Amino acid sequence: MAPVRLANARVDGAGSVDVDIDSGRIAALSPAGSTVPSADVLDLGGRRLIPGLWDEHVHVRTWAVSSRRVDVRAATGPQEVAALVRAALPEAEPGLPVVAAGMRDGLWGGAPSRLLLDDIAPDVPVMVVSSDLHSSWSNAALGRLLGIDLDGTGMLREAASFAAATRVESMVADRADAWIGEALADLGRRGVVGLVDLDFDDAVRAWERRAAPPVRIDAGVYPHDLDAAAERGARTGDPINGLARVGPLKVITDGSLGTRTAYCHAPYPGTADRGVLEVPPEHLESLLRRGAELGLTPAIHAIGDAANALALDAFARTGIRGRIEHAQLLTDADLARMATLRIGASIQPEHMLDDRELVARYWGDRATDAFRIGSLVAAGIDVVLGSDAPVTPLDPWLAISAAVTRARDGDPPWQPAEAVDVRTALRLSARSRIAVGEPADLAALGDDPEPHRLRTMPVDLTMVAGRITHSNL
Ligand SMILES: [Zn+2]
Repeated sequence: MAPVRLANARVDGAGSVDVDIDSGRIAALSPAGSTVPSADVLDLGGRRLIPGLWDEHVHVRTWAVSSRRVDVRAATGPQEVAALVRAALPEAEPGLPVVAAGMRDGLWGGAPSRLLLDDIAPDVPVMVVSSDLHSSWSNAALGRLLGIDLDGTGMLREAASFAAATRVESMVADRADAWIGEALADLGRRGVVGLVDLDFDDAVRAWERRAAPPVRIDAGVYPHDLDAAAERGARTGDPINGLARVGPLKVITDGSLGTRTAYCHAPYPGTADRGVLEVPPEHLESLLRRGAELGLTPAIHAIGDAANALALDAFARTGIRGRIEHAQLLTDADLARMATLRIGASIQPEHMLDDRELVARYWGDRATDAFRIGSLVAAGIDVVLGSDAPVTPLDPWLAISAAVTRARDGDPPWQPAEAVDVRTALRLSARSRIAVGEPADLAALGDDPEPHRLRTMPVDLTMVAGRITHSNL
């Protein structure tokens, strides 16, 4: 790639500078206009230049496919979902299930009924996936298609639901690669330079096959693909294909708040149910050890406070370091332990705003233990931000806005004591700095990042490894 100079960039702490870029890295920084350029010049005209943004938790294929699904996010009950599905039936492709996404059944009164979907679609397979991806609601025809038993509710939760949804998604795998390419090409508009792909279906193998991506991709490995990982011998950080590399070992130890399967110290109100522990401690320890042998850094999904405690126990006993995905409900003691053990936290601030009602309903007595971004940062814990797309949109500015303002849609801020400032939120969303030798992963902003405009922040230029992926200049 030809060298280029980004002239007249405003950089936090450095003032107005010229940034020389060569071979995908920042080669020199000099006060604006103080040196003669030796390369093509792109004049930023005083725009603020920031390190490019990462989304640290994405399900890439599910995200790219979800925009082609029936959107039921706005539905407030099973009847409304069924009506949306019924309206989509005439468009159904022969042989393929009708799939809806965004079900928020955690806010409904009770479990839905399979018969409701059987009535509207006796022969067409239907699957309605929850907004948190941890459960799905299907009809009998879907059960027959996959050869699985569905009870009268038609609900699947956790591992059974992930497996069924992954099989349904695989039915469009031939087209999904093109959709992923299109969706990734659009990310430069939001200043995105990299993401962690936590697709359930051997993301490493998928990225070996797909076209080289326009953004950095760390492709995660799940326990069911550990044998394949051992055969490949590829470690976290090893290149796969262009900017795609092997990512972390992802282990899902508990469920989610929306599906009421997050594993908690206290039962869900009115029940004796504490949620679902998918991976017991001994098993988690052996997975951490196997991952370490294979050179895979762990990223452990834990949402409930008990799941977080057990994940920290496993980190402590094995001495292996890594990070916890979500860490949504954390006691004071575990937050302190996380800092001592130097375990990172990968947080999705938009979940907090989507889940305000769920937290009040199910974790009301422990709400101050939820989404403790400010406390995690203050404790010196390595916090990174993400979207969990398609659970929330793949746009780091939404995460940054939520972390800073703790509010959306004119609502009052939620637990504002846990807010972080803009500079901190930007740091938690980037992996590089603007300094000589750092990767040329950069974004130039069309406006100052004031808290009230973060959500719609205009991005005028994005560069990944020195290559321009978006420009309004
Ligand atoms: Zn996820």
